[in-house]
Amino acid sequence: MTGIPTRRLVLLGSTGSIGTQALDVVSRYPHIARVHGLAVGGSRPVLVAEQVLAHRPAQLVISDETRAAAVVDAVRQACSAAGVPAPEIGVGADAVVELAGSLGEGDVVLNAITGSVGLLPTLAVLSCGARLALANKESLVVGGHLVTEAAAPGQILPVDSEHTAIAQALAGVEHEQIDHLVVTASGGPFRGRSRGELAQVTPEQALAHPTWSMGRVITTNSATLVNKALEVIEACFQFDLPEDRVEVVVHPQSIVHSMVTLVDGSTIAQASPPDMRHAIGWALAHPHKLPGLAAALDFSTAQSWTFEPVDEDTFEAISLARGAHREGGGAMAVYNAVNEEAVEACFAGALSFLGITALIREVLEHPRRPRAQREDGVEGLLAVEEWARATARAQIAERAR
Ligand code: NAD
Ligand code: MG
Repeated sequence: MTGIPTRRLVLLGSTGSIGTQALDVVSRYPHIARVHGLAVGGSRPVLVAEQVLAHRPAQLVISDETRAAAVVDAVRQACSAAGVPAPEIGVGADAVVELAGSLGEGDVVLNAITGSVGLLPTLAVLSCGARLALANKESLVVGGHLVTEAAAPGQILPVDSEHTAIAQALAGVEHEQIDHLVVTASGGPFRGRSRGELAQVTPEQALAHPTWSMGRVITTNSATLVNKALEVIEACFQFDLPEDRVEVVVHPQSIVHSMVTLVDGSTIAQASPPDMRHAIGWALAHPHKLPGLAAALDFSTAQSWTFEPVDEDTFEAISLARGAHREGGGAMAVYNAVNEEAVEACFAGALSFLGITALIREVLEHPRRPRAQREDGVEGLLAVEEWARATARAQIAERAR
């Protein structure tokens, strides 16, 4: 494996599902990246201390000010017991953005934060010139044109199994040779259920994903199909295509991670057992390949891969997202913000499972929904988002009465 540059790495969201798997990849292939900085929310102090000892970053940022003291204590104690200097520690959302933008060309930032709070760090990475390995799909969904216009060609490498697959399938393909993209979906734990059956499901049932082990928000989004809806929009921006050229197909085995159909009628698929370390390692090392990164498919036993249409009547998340993408003007920021509020409310017992997408629809249809103009930039989007969150919360409270 000669010729792979050792990049400085900033990892945003290191204690999460993607973050911990990314550090696993870096531990196994230490020549591809040297951890320069970690950013965390702050809920897992012991894990942060372990990560600091294992990877010795120069910088550590804790975004949640109320949790910072516990993390700082754990990290300082661990470093002093091990006889190593503690990293420089920053606290708060601004410090996350500062860390995100602190590297330059030849370096890489993996944004693995959950939610639209990832948008400002994403923009900071793009302006500093580092490679952006992007797991935080919400920043591309919410920031759409702002993010793609700020990015140099090839600067964003998607860390989402579907988009990583499409990027690989597109190697050597010209944009005008693409007919459409086919994004695969596992269908989530409630595949095949009717709306009547979905009316009864609990948040705990939503957390039982059939093929992937992920953070709580994305797992819930997989059950509502909001995750697939966000991924359709993510694909539109990442690959510069309108939503009607991004098809969704249910593939319960999660082996074919997505496909590209070309104008000549051939379809190129990327397939591997479900393991996010594949996508993470791909984005960190691209264009190099890491030998043994993840298990390969084994055809020595019989297996079948099946594909079926998605039931958009039962799961309205995808059609709502398509409408929001066609409209633009902050509608996708509204979609995502309402979803984030609704998922929290669902876990708090204040909203039913079906209530999540119903609330997204209601707020999108609100007669006084504000629009963000392109010239208003990120501030315009954040204002629309704030309105959407407040409106969603008010409607949740109204339902609970
Ligand atoms: P997670 O909830 O497991 O982890 C989120 C991480 O972000 C944690 O380390 C948390 O402490 C940190 N964090 C939260 N708020 C922060 C902030 N303001 N600043 C800095 N750090 C903050 O989430 P996850 O499942 O790892 O997903 C992360 C992102 O990757 C999401 O956008 C998700 O949609 C996307 N993604 C995840 C997977 C997966 O397999 N988990 C697959 C594809 C895409
Ligand atoms: Mg995905």
